[in-house]
Amino acid sequence: MNTAIYSGPVFEMAKQQFAQVADHLDIREMDRDRLLYPKRAMAVSCPIHRDDGRIEVYQGYRVQHHLTLGPTKGGTRFAPSVDIGEIAALAIWMSWKCALAGLPYGGAKGGITVDPYKLSPRELEALSRRHMQEMIPFVGPHTDVMAPDMGTNEQVMAWFMDTYSMYQGQTINEIVTGKPISAGGTLGRREATGRGVAYLVGRALEHLGIRADRATAIVQGFGNVGSVTAYSLAKRGVRIIGVSDHTAAYYDPAGLDVAELQRHVGKHGQLAGVSAESLISASELLVRKCDVLVPAAIERVITSGNASKVKCRILAEGANGPTTPEADAILYQRTDEIFVLPDILCNAGGVIVSYFEWVQDLQRLFWEETEVFDRLYRILERSFQQTIARAKHERISHRMAAMAIGVNVVQAAKRTRGLFP
Ligand code: GLU
Repeated sequence: MNTAIYSGPVFEMAKQQFAQVADHLDIREMDRDRLLYPKRAMAVSCPIHRDDGRIEVYQGYRVQHHLTLGPTKGGTRFAPSVDIGEIAALAIWMSWKCALAGLPYGGAKGGITVDPYKLSPRELEALSRRHMQEMIPFVGPHTDVMAPDMGTNEQVMAWFMDTYSMYQGQTINEIVTGKPISAGGTLGRREATGRGVAYLVGRALEHLGIRADRATAIVQGFGNVGSVTAYSLAKRGVRIIGVSDHTAAYYDPAGLDVAELQRHVGKHGQLAGVSAESLISASELLVRKCDVLVPAAIERVITSGNASKVKCRILAEGANGPTTPEADAILYQRTDEIFVLPDILCNAGGVIVSYFEWVQDLQRLFWEETEVFDRLYRILERSFQQTIARAKHERISHRMAAMAIGVNVVQAAKRTRGLFP
């Protein structure tokens, strides 16, 4: 199969990881392309009026990896780095993530190549609505369900839902998840990813016999995932000694006040300007000694250049794809020192609660917050135990184990359904 459209380092990563798992599972060569390559990919151009009167066109994408288990599911990313290779890789990772959690979905991802922070609120609304309008032939509550990702938020999801609904002539809440409560969202979705990360870190600490109130953590990224993770870890007694975003990095061994950092970001939109004394370089922060290191920003930050230098006991991957395959090989050599919570396990809380939101929207029956988090933690607990048991039994890394479980689920569904026609 000629797959030249999916080029780039992030897609290569997803491909390499899959090849390793496929070798481990002994998947026949002729079944590999069918499991790996996306079923559908769509590119759209989204023209909008800028505030100065000019018309500007933005490139948008959506990739649906496989439709074997039900609709596809995944976020929409607004970032300057977005290209089809990155979106395809993220869609593939969503598939393994959903399968590991036992959700009835294939993976998808979409995005627009744009810096959303350079748009005015009106321009952002116009672009969000135009993107959804262009996607109408491609998505649907039983085909492909969108959600937030980097650079998008609840408001953007509300515009997506409204635009889709206006075209259908009725309110269709279940077309996207991660919506505000007032637009059919679920309790707990906003905090779901970060609280899930903190739950799994808590389990990993227990597993290693480290008390949470004696542990320290460094969190890279202070968007929805990073900030809620830091806050939830602090609530569990963990001392947050470092945080960063794309504007600043801070390190203070005595501990940072997460609520204060959140207030600052709420007001200024970034971490820059918090304190001059605790400033540190972003790359140095990643290799400072701590119990828990949480990359919660972008792909490919733990690399062959720093994997041998990170000094944590637990690497909790809040972001998608933060660790390169070369770094993975180094971390595997350090298995006794570093306990990896791989992305498709660690950050699955978001899509799990998205699934709850979709179910509630379809049933028009809404749950209490405790029900949301009880069910979330039960699924995470099962995935955590399955992953570490399989890794131990087959002497493989946690990432390989988590992916093997996910790939097996998709493989079994494809085998049972057969090949059409
Ligand atoms: N964008 C999030 C992720 O990467 C959430 C996806 C969803 O809720 O569908 O997992």
